[in-house]
Amino acid sequence: MTRVSPTRRAASSLLLFLLLSVLGLAAVVSPPASADSIEVVSQSERTDNPAGLTFNTRVRAAAGLKSARLIYKVRNPDADVGGSGDATVSPGTELDLSFALTTNGAERYIPVGSTFSYHWEFEDTTGTRLSSPEREFVFLDGRYQWRSRTEGTAPPVTVFWYGANENRAQIALDATRTSLKQTGDLLETTVEYPIKVVVYASESDGEAAQRPRGRAFDASVQTGGTRVAPDLVLVFVPDVDIVRHEVGHIVTHVAGDGPFGSLPSWIDEGTAVWAQSSPGGGYLGALALAIMSNGPLNLRSMQSATNRPEEVNLFYGQSFSTVDHLIKTYGQPKFAELFRTFRAGTSMDDALRKVYGFDQNGLYNEWRKSKNLAELTFATPTAGTAPVTEATRPPLGFPSGSGQSTTSPQGGSSSAPAGPAAPGGPDGAAAAARPEGRPPPGRAVLAGTVLLALILGGGAVMMLRRKPGARAEG
Ligand SMILES: [Zn+2]
Repeated sequence: MTRVSPTRRAASSLLLFLLLSVLGLAAVVSPPASADSIEVVSQSERTDNPAGLTFNTRVRAAAGLKSARLIYKVRNPDADVGGSGDATVSPGTELDLSFALTTNGAERYIPVGSTFSYHWEFEDTTGTRLSSPEREFVFLDGRYQWRSRTEGTAPPVTVFWYGANENRAQIALDATRTSLKQTGDLLETTVEYPIKVVVYASESDGEAAQRPRGRAFDASVQTGGTRVAPDLVLVFVPDVDIVRHEVGHIVTHVAGDGPFGSLPSWIDEGTAVWAQSSPGGGYLGALALAIMSNGPLNLRSMQSATNRPEEVNLFYGQSFSTVDHLIKTYGQPKFAELFRTFRAGTSMDDALRKVYGFDQNGLYNEWRKSKNLAELTFATPTAGTAPVTEATRPPLGFPSGSGQSTTSPQGGSSSAPAGPAAPGGPDGAAAAARPEGRPPPGRAVLAGTVLLALILGGGAVMMLRRKPGARAEG
């Protein structure tokens, strides 16, 4: 009936797609045109690569068309985000129209794996209007022949892969389900919406699917995995712990990010590292070194991830250690209660006080004591000051200034604007580095986060690898 684009082929295993194909078919068998009618003959979409998407439609309009507008939505569990665009119409009674949408550019980043829903709205020269049937599809990278598999319930997980990548896809799917279960049990929460995991065969294959970054940054960065939306993870390096970490963020978002604010980074990242099978030597080594030299980070400074590359491993190691301390000392139920309390709309200090009887300063001192470090004296915090930094997470991004932290503002397009940039960052966004996943052995791994499309409520995680000269091995 219509051109089968790579995207459509890729999504063909989805029931949804089949359903929509039926809807598309309905458009074909619509009644013949009369003088004042508009008939949608076909509509389809195609993507050649992650940079863009073209929506095509063939329309019969006996009176000639005046306008054709595409209305699209990008599905997001927090809040759908949408837009529209006009196709250029020309005289004639049967027209092929198209609208091209940039999906990865300066103005917009809609990640591969996003589910689109769209329809066309037509008006002919007599003022007659027609809306085409709504279509839904998963936007996949048109350079590859994607396959998919869905497993499980509560929530179902769909993994997408191509080529000889099936084994990695299964590993990613299993790791996703493990993390959903373990992190869900930890936080006593269930992710209610389906999860999608898009697995590339390599980082270079998936490079075009990542948000554009500065050239200098690219040279030293490896992206292992990215949580790009509340329900969507892109995987570039088939490391179980990268997947478990990113999926951990899916769960912390549901359990902790509330209508009044996102989780402080130390508890969000600490829990995501906890979701890994092991924190990894890079994080723990940096933490041990900091404890030896009495140089840990002040917990209160860890509301957002560090923008200092040299502190990245410590940031993750200490975040994990702090979370681990809470869980091991006071038990899992209280930790889950902390998330619930925060999510209900209090500051982290108030949530900690309510559940544990101490605030972040108290927690930091308790943690220091457990590491045989001297307790610190803090000035009495002024009431009402702390939540400011907690309400929105400062964007931590790339030199291009277009980045967003891993667990970016939740709540989709209607969420609060991004907080102030962390100091030192160019273009209003800090050049951040955060480790993600377990560093490859013998290799210094740093990480960064990107400011992803705010509208998608997503986030991204990058792995930074020191330049070749700094590597212990190739
Ligand atoms: Zn993370």
